[in-house]
Amino acid sequence: MKRIEPSAFGLATKIALAAGFIGLLSIVALTAYIYSGSRDILIERDSERLARSVEVSASRFNSRIEFGRQDTLLLARTPPILGIFRASARGGVDPLDGSTERLWHDRLSTIFAGMLEARPEYMQVRLIGAGGREIVRVDRLRDGTLFRVPDNALQQKISRPYVHNALKMAKGEVYLSRIDLNQEHGRIEVPNRPVIRAATPVFSEAGELLGIIVINVDMGRIFDIIEGPGSSQIDFYLTNQDGDYLDHPEVGKRFGFELGRRYLIQAEFPALKGFVTGKAPEFAGIVNGPAGKVLAVATKVHYDPNDTGHYVVISEMSPADELAASMASVRNRAALAAAVVLVLGLVAVAWLVKVLSRPLKEISDMAVAVAHGDRRVDIQRIGTRRDEVGVLARSFETMVEKVDAREEELAAEKQKLEKANEMLARSNAKLTRSNQELTQFAYVASHDLQEPLRMVDSYMGLIERRYKGKLDADADEFIGYAVDGARRMKRLINELLSYSRVSNRPLNVRQVDTRATVEGLLAMLREQIEQVDGVVHIGSLPTIEADAGQIERLFTNLIGNAIKFRGNAPPRIRISAKQTRDMWEFSVADNGIGIEPEFREKIFEIFARLHSREIYEGTGIGLAACKRIVELHGGTIWVESAPNGGSIFRFTLPEQQDEEPV
Ligand code: ADP
Repeated sequence: MKRIEPSAFGLATKIALAAGFIGLLSIVALTAYIYSGSRDILIERDSERLARSVEVSASRFNSRIEFGRQDTLLLARTPPILGIFRASARGGVDPLDGSTERLWHDRLSTIFAGMLEARPEYMQVRLIGAGGREIVRVDRLRDGTLFRVPDNALQQKISRPYVHNALKMAKGEVYLSRIDLNQEHGRIEVPNRPVIRAATPVFSEAGELLGIIVINVDMGRIFDIIEGPGSSQIDFYLTNQDGDYLDHPEVGKRFGFELGRRYLIQAEFPALKGFVTGKAPEFAGIVNGPAGKVLAVATKVHYDPNDTGHYVVISEMSPADELAASMASVRNRAALAAAVVLVLGLVAVAWLVKVLSRPLKEISDMAVAVAHGDRRVDIQRIGTRRDEVGVLARSFETMVEKVDAREEELAAEKQKLEKANEMLARSNAKLTRSNQELTQFAYVASHDLQEPLRMVDSYMGLIERRYKGKLDADADEFIGYAVDGARRMKRLINELLSYSRVSNRPLNVRQVDTRATVEGLLAMLREQIEQVDGVVHIGSLPTIEADAGQIERLFTNLIGNAIKFRGNAPPRIRISAKQTRDMWEFSVADNGIGIEPEFREKIFEIFARLHSREIYEGTGIGLAACKRIVELHGGTIWVESAPNGGSIFRFTLPEQQDEEPV
């Protein structure tokens, strides 16, 4: 398993960080929520007074404008107007009652003067003809006296917007102009007063448009009386729909736009910009002004019911110091509460770390110790807990105990195994030693036996040559047996000697072309094979690393046996090899007498023979030597029965010999 280093950024740190993050986030959110909520409440409380004042101002403004409208309509219905037009249409005399046009003028100007007396905010009342020319006009002069303008001072006004707009209106409708300065300079009018012109058309009884009635309302007077009942702390501002001041505590800022300067409310109070030119009907809030923060309440007054585009904005403002102080205190208290919550949160996190992370760390430390072989698990402190941590600790302890027991079992088994191994090794060594001793003994015995045997053999030969036929017939027969026995013994000893040589000498390994080896052997055995009409077929045979002498012996024995143990038919022998993984598997197949299954292992033992010497010559050493040779080269040998009777001897040999041959 991959080894992972424990991180310094442990569980406790992670819990603490996560809790801290969540805590901080909720505290910030909570503080912001409390702060904005209480700010709204505070502003609402303080702005109520201002809002009432603004409301009063707005309704006063509206009622004054309404007076102007109603008065204009009233004047339009006065009988002298029709009288004037009747008389003028009939050469200056009214056909109804004989009054002159002049008389009707006088009567109308008296009515106009009465109106000016009644309404001190009106500056001028006029009748203007359909062609735009003033017909009757009464002004209020600078000193307050009323002045009927003589006929020769009357003017043509058709180009004025209020004239041509009012001439287009229907009966009963009143045109209300924008509020602007009356800039008409001259003796008779008071210049530079803000005015609204209220105008309405007049018609004859037949419905013919005769002219208009116009009242100029002095808005300066109205502004003075509409200021709400606020304390002296409140500043009153009035602007038109573009934000230009119509009324301002500083007189010089009023109507700047008419005088080539601009004083805009949004320049002094940027926060109001959106409200003044936007759609919202009301505004309340704390805004920055030239003298610091103020609480501002504003409302729009649409004074002209025919033209929603004309409106004024009434704004009242009071210093917001007190309000700002209360808000600061709210903010401070919220921050304090947040700090307390934070501290409590940290305490809670510390507790969490203590109850959760520490015992987990203890268990994890123990697990590390156990992994390194320390089995002393001590869960006393946390093992008694009833929560998941306790369960975990107890299960951990049980697990370690089980592992411990299993390890002990394994150790005991291992010990037993080691003992058995040791015994095996010892008896193996013993066996090897006795084997060595045995082959050594066989070698020495056969080697040492050769000498006396040679003596027996040669003297028996001598006796045979010298005394054969000279003694009686029995003697001749006995000599024959003795000579034969000596020869067989000689052969037996030779084979035994060569067998023990196989075991006692180290392999002389080199490249051996097995095909060449077999072909060489067959050449030597040619005569013997031809005598029995034998046929030997050689398949593909490889070159391998081996002891050439031993390989030659191996094939000699197997081919010899194949010829010797032939059946009635002439021998057919097939020698071949095939490659299996890292070995070559050779086979020598014959069509001979075959071998019963129960003897297929026994024949490889030394001196094992299945037939008497009278039938088949032999010593029983050949196959034992073959087995020994194959095994010394690292292979195995076995015999199978061929499908058509006969035997197949198979053996494996590695292509290359290991450094140290077995
Ligand atoms: P020997 O040939 O000297 O008897 P071996 O060790 O070569 O001794 O053979 C042992 C016995 O195995 C033989 O006596 C024979 O009975 C049997 N044997 C060996 N080769 C064959 C064979 N090709 N076909 C039948 N039997 C065989």
